[in-house]
Amino acid sequence: MLDKLAGFVYEMGGRPSSHELIRTSEEGSGTGGARATGARCGATRFMELEREVEQEYRPQMRVALQQKVEAVAESLRSQTPQCARCGRAMRYHDTRPVSWWARCGKLLALVARYRCSGCGSECRPLLEELGVEPGRISGSLARLLALLAVVAPYPLAARLAWLLLGVPVSAMGVWRVVQRLGEAAARYQEDLSQYHNDTCSQEPRATQAPAVVVLGVDGCNLGMQVRKQRRRRPAEGSPLPPLPPVEDGQFREVKTGVLLRPEERVETSPGRRSLVRRFLVTCLGDADAIFAHLWAQLQELGWLGVQTMVVVIGDGAEWIWNRTWMFPRHCEILDFWHALEHAWEFARLRYGEGSQRAERWIHQIAEDLRAGKVQAIIRRLERLHPTNPETQKGLKKLIGYYLENASRMQYDEYLRLGYGIGSGAVESAHKQVVHARMRQAGMRWSEPGARRLLALRLLLLNERWAMLDQLRMVSLAA
Ligand SMILES: [Zn+2]
Repeated sequence: MLDKLAGFVYEMGGRPSSHELIRTSEEGSGTGGARATGARCGATRFMELEREVEQEYRPQMRVALQQKVEAVAESLRSQTPQCARCGRAMRYHDTRPVSWWARCGKLLALVARYRCSGCGSECRPLLEELGVEPGRISGSLARLLALLAVVAPYPLAARLAWLLLGVPVSAMGVWRVVQRLGEAAARYQEDLSQYHNDTCSQEPRATQAPAVVVLGVDGCNLGMQVRKQRRRRPAEGSPLPPLPPVEDGQFREVKTGVLLRPEERVETSPGRRSLVRRFLVTCLGDADAIFAHLWAQLQELGWLGVQTMVVVIGDGAEWIWNRTWMFPRHCEILDFWHALEHAWEFARLRYGEGSQRAERWIHQIAEDLRAGKVQAIIRRLERLHPTNPETQKGLKKLIGYYLENASRMQYDEYLRLGYGIGSGAVESAHKQVVHARMRQAGMRWSEPGARRLLALRLLLLNERWAMLDQLRMVSLAA
């Protein structure tokens, strides 16, 4: 279907659309603007020329590509492949026609199959050489479709493929491409994480590492499909991982971690800071998994030296503080806005919702927090004696929270050192990685589906899309 329809899109400019009919009737009504200026409706002459050329050359491109494929097939014809498993010379078995899809249409090849008489394994050298799979969308078209699906829901990505590339493909076709490329990306990220976490003790530390790295983590729930998914073995022969805990059976937490260097925050306009760059990691998994990813990414970047201060900005969640020990030098910072939000809770109880006094009180708290006077604030709070039991409870809670986190609230110090005091960069990164694509109305994910799309999204957002070319593609059961 694809080859018949490819190119069809270019013919559409010639037919009058309903939009054109409307414009024509407007012209007739006496305004005459379009006619007077010589403006035309529909495609311009130049657009027509462009489409003509594309229509003319697309079949030629397919023929040229087909010829190149045949040349590769010819070059392999005289070679007897060796078994990848046992090293024996393999025997010719049969030849079958195989087709796959590329940007310019459908390609065909007669593919020889070889079999090992020792271990019985099979190979098709031409397909391996080309890196294509029978019946699938391959090469640059696959990458473009994946790119569309990384930013838009599958049905919309399929529509975009038609409008942008002139390629008719179903939402399911796009989905399949994402599963294949996404699996390669996810495995790469997981292998990298495992490699660095297995070898962390003997690994030489980066010598050019920055003095300070800021790290933050955020998470949210992702709506999951209710049906159970098969588990995967991390490597052949290894045991299946335990079933992940599923809260309420319908949600899985997805976590995002961000790494940045404080000196790379720039003030784009007064009071507005943005980042030159940041690196993201993400996973559908527990706290240990996201920290393993962060650790691996720090090593990859060469950002973790003996002297590197790892600044961890958290929203107060225990699972974050429980893992900072992995960094020899670290500094824990409680996100300033979370600290203030707790004060707000109490202020609303004490002064009433939306009251001016509450606002003034909070303003003072914020100033004192910024000045690093958390102990003074606690002493002041301890001198309060509200009569209302609910307010008493709220006060106790606030004092407890500040006492527990006082060492993470030295905001004057963090500002002086340039560490920053807010987790805004983390929260916005998490929204960009997850919410913008994966938390749209009614979306439900399978675990492998979410994991693969997240891995691809990360490549795009980390500006590593080109890395897809380096990854070993894995064949998935359709
Ligand atoms: Zn063999």
